[in-house]
Amino acid sequence: SYVGIHSTSFRDLLLKPEIMKAITDCGFEHPSEVQQVCIPQAIVGTDVLCQAKSGLGKTAVFVISTLQQVDVVPGEASVLVMCHTRELAFQIKNEYARFTKYMPEVKTAVFYGGTDIKENEKMLSNKETYPNIIVATPGRLNALVRDKKLRLGTVKFFVLDECDKMLDQIDMRRDVQEIFRATPTNKQVMMFSATLSQATRPICKKFMRNPLEIYVDDETKLTLHGLRQFYSKLSEAEKNRRLNDLLDELTYNQVIIFVKSTVRANELSKLLIECNFPATAVHSGISQEERIKRYTEFKNFKHRICVSTDVFGRGIDIERINVAVNYDMPDSPANPGGSDKDSLAQAADTYLHRVGRAGRFGTKGVAVSFVSSERDEAVLKSIEARFEKKIEEYPVGGEGIDV
Ligand code: ADP
Ligand code: MG
Repeated sequence: SYVGIHSTSFRDLLLKPEIMKAITDCGFEHPSEVQQVCIPQAIVGTDVLCQAKSGLGKTAVFVISTLQQVDVVPGEASVLVMCHTRELAFQIKNEYARFTKYMPEVKTAVFYGGTDIKENEKMLSNKETYPNIIVATPGRLNALVRDKKLRLGTVKFFVLDECDKMLDQIDMRRDVQEIFRATPTNKQVMMFSATLSQATRPICKKFMRNPLEIYVDDETKLTLHGLRQFYSKLSEAEKNRRLNDLLDELTYNQVIIFVKSTVRANELSKLLIECNFPATAVHSGISQEERIKRYTEFKNFKHRICVSTDVFGRGIDIERINVAVNYDMPDSPANPGGSDKDSLAQAADTYLHRVGRAGRFGTKGVAVSFVSSERDEAVLKSIEARFEKKIEEYPVGGEGIDV
């Protein structure tokens, strides 16, 4: 928790005029609560560990505060941001592009796996193209550091988005630690997520010095007000039919449908397209280039429906998504089907992130989860208990649901 006076206008934050101009161009009128609380401290160099619910602008906290402080030296990387998926890295890089519109001297690059590393190396071998801001996934970044293609000795800002996900996964944590050790001791560290368990917090704090800590300890405050949540009990065989009905009944702008495997994502998107629904699919089973292409097309409203695995379960920000469907109920990535408390808690985390793709920045949204097994019911119960939220049965014909 925190005490203090919160500004209600971006002007009160006394940002550089070139950043203020970009904020205005983005159409942002007022800073959200998390921005009001974090930005004033972050721009004076305080480390930040921040939990805040989905869709309320955590990205702008670190983008604005790093840009406010960065001293651009050509040929030197000052800002390093890492996250857990490639599409999210790509998205964050685009956010930096939006906010540096009036800072032409700032060069930003994004590095992630599944692409030609030679291209990254080429960019890093030329002072003209050497980035000042790097957004990356840890695997590729670490490869570049190990091969001595990238020097991190000039990094002054170290940011982890979706930090719990990055530090809970052992292989990712290892990469993050190795990269962290390659950066100078003296730097600002900031970490963000909508979910930060009691167990994860001390792990995050090991990377920090005297951080501003923002937590949502009352988990009932993590659910989104504008989001109506439903479940639908059915058999596995009834899922396609029910989905078809849902898509007919709900007036959606864009829909995200989550499934549990790449095979199911392919099959379901194929089926939807055959039924003349404007669908696309994004998962780890397609080439990286194609993944980014589909992400961009979906973001640009070229498709109305996206079938996805958990690669889109966190961080992905697509303004027009107002319906999220759990075609397959979320589960723990580490221990699916596990009956222990951790496994159910991870499933509930996954749920919270997934449904948070709808109803961004306080807009209205609907989430519908298909429940077809005992496990699904157990997950549903743990979600309801954890967030103290009664998830109602989806009404026949979608009666009374106004998206
Ligand atoms: P989070 O990371 O907290 O889930 P994001 O940073 O992805 O949320 O932001 C969600 C959406 O809200 C984005 O589309 C972003 O452009 C928008 N947004 C962020 N801050 C503001 C603001 N102050 N005013 C209006 N829109 C905002
Ligand atoms: Mg985010």
